[in-house]
Amino acid sequence: MGVNPGIELIDKNGKRTDGRKVDEVRPIHIEAGVLHRADGSAYLEWGNNKVMAAVYGPREFNPRRFQKADKCVVRCKYNMAAFSTSDRKRPGPDRRSQEISKVIADAFENVVLTEKWPRGVIDINMEILQADAGTRIAALTAAAVALADAGIPMKGMVAGCATGKVDGKLCVDLNGPEDNYGESDLPVAVNMTTGEIVLLQMDGHLTGREFEKALDMTVKACDQVYQAQRDALERRFTAKLDELEKDTPAPRRGKQQEAKEVVEAEVA
Ligand code: ADP
Repeated sequence: MGVNPGIELIDKNGKRTDGRKVDEVRPIHIEAGVLHRADGSAYLEWGNNKVMAAVYGPREFNPRRFQKADKCVVRCKYNMAAFSTSDRKRPGPDRRSQEISKVIADAFENVVLTEKWPRGVIDINMEILQADAGTRIAALTAAAVALADAGIPMKGMVAGCATGKVDGKLCVDLNGPEDNYGESDLPVAVNMTTGEIVLLQMDGHLTGREFEKALDMTVKACDQVYQAQRDALERRFTAKLDELEKDTPAPRRGKQQEAKEVVEAEVA
């Protein structure tokens, strides 16, 4: 939210610097199950953001003093690669990445069925390979798919988006210049099954009415993000089913076919 050096963020036709309308989300593509060493993983491209997420666990939490007797801990690590921004980012953790790791962990603690693994830990690692605003939400979106890919039961899929105020207008999914020179930014994540908000932060200022409208716009935008997550998981699990079918020995396949025919005959 810096001082605008004179960039026209919204033109007279209501179009933004990348040609989008105010309620338009940048293109999103997600691939699930891209890393073979992790229990679950996802690679996401969202506009110019590129994110890799990997999930390990659940497994026993060591050292034991960090264990919780009644549930597992969801541990998150958000990291921006040194080459992810136009100026080389100083490598290693900083206050911003610690804060983002914490809010994402809090969000997932609310949706993962943590009571299933007392004394355990689930590790979620998110690497920002290329950054162009909205990276905390992009990281969380990829991590939610990686958790599902790992087969970790959740109360629902978490999707998110950020809405902000740019040149006095509310716009969903801010890009780099809008984030840098806009007036406010409101990243939100929602449990798409229950409708519960699991992450909400705000940078800059909005009036009460603007806040309500921004929240509405964000929740609508989350539907599109959720669709990209579902597409990725559908492709992933269809591919897995195809693999399983290929591995099934021929006689068993014959029996399955016979059983199917019997059931179909009975139903008819
Ligand atoms: P988010 O990425 O969730 O919007 P911020 O609002 O803190 O989080 O950051 C906005 C954008 O500013 C980032 O997406 C990134 O492009 C850029 N940025 C953030 N931190 C740094 C940094 N340390 N060095 C260079 N660019 C950064």
